[in-house]
Amino acid sequence: MPASRCPACGNTDLEKLPKGEWIEGVSLRVKRAFDLVITPSGIKRRVVECRASVYRCPQCDNCFTSERYQRLAKHYHGLMSWSIYQHVAHRTTFKTIEGMFREFFSLMVSAQEIHMFKSLMAQYYAGTYQKILAKIVAGSVLHVDETQVKLMTGKVYVWVFASLEEVIYLYRPTREGDFLKEMLKDFKGVLISDFYSAYDSLDCPQQKCIIHLIRDINQEVLNNPFDDELQSVTQPFGSLLQAIVATIDEHGLKRRFLERHANDVAGFFRMLSTGFFPFRGRDGIKGKAAETPKTSCSPSCSTMACPGTTTMLKMQSRCSPTTEE
Ligand SMILES: [Zn+2]
Repeated sequence: MPASRCPACGNTDLEKLPKGEWIEGVSLRVKRAFDLVITPSGIKRRVVECRASVYRCPQCDNCFTSERYQRLAKHYHGLMSWSIYQHVAHRTTFKTIEGMFREFFSLMVSAQEIHMFKSLMAQYYAGTYQKILAKIVAGSVLHVDETQVKLMTGKVYVWVFASLEEVIYLYRPTREGDFLKEMLKDFKGVLISDFYSAYDSLDCPQQKCIIHLIRDINQEVLNNPFDDELQSVTQPFGSLLQAIVATIDEHGLKRRFLERHANDVAGFFRMLSTGFFPFRGRDGIKGKAAETPKTSCSPSCSTMACPGTTTMLKMQSRCSPTTEE
């Protein structure tokens, strides 16, 4: 690794010292760097030995090695990305990764060094993050949600933005959604979110997430087990959804099969808007509901056939996507 100019005075006419001559204050001439080479058939260790010449500047008598040599990284990209992959994808702790390096590759990489890889890799992939974000913003569908995480310093939030192909996880110190306006100002697709009010002000078509809706309804039903009016809405809704999910399980998301529910959906909305709730009270459904849980039924028979909460809870466990809280 050659040097071209003196770092002290800028002189370019340098004198190269002979090999083996040790100069006080100049670090060793051989450095080792470590890497992992990842191939389709396996991973192997690579140790790179870097040698540098020592120079003397005749003008100011400064002795030095090249700046590139001094800045040489000890760990290369393959090694860093493998450890961050273990940490993120397999939730392996830094201490365990340290042990894995020792056992698999006979490499001494400390947990502190692995911790440093995290910010180095975050810097390295900042451009990739911007590209993924640009792709998501240019897309037609965006799912967004936020969840609380506990750090030693207190509660913070992780926001997730996902299209069908890309996903971004974003750290935020608070749950405030003001940043969304700037971040999604060019987004013109459909935004799918929960009922958190921060999303309301965004200027794009919006759709609410059914998983969140089901969860909120379940919570309401659990909180108010004796509210007949509430159940007169949730039970038909549960039955309707159960029938739709059964169709999806059988045929996938195909329009021609889903269309058969169009009348029932319209009927449900008609029922909501007219305020006619075909509910007969808890006593009317008790025994029967427990004995005969049907897998599909229309809203007209729903109050008799579908036990409210259990139907909903079952549905939720089946539908929950991985981005859920
Ligand atoms: Zn000099």
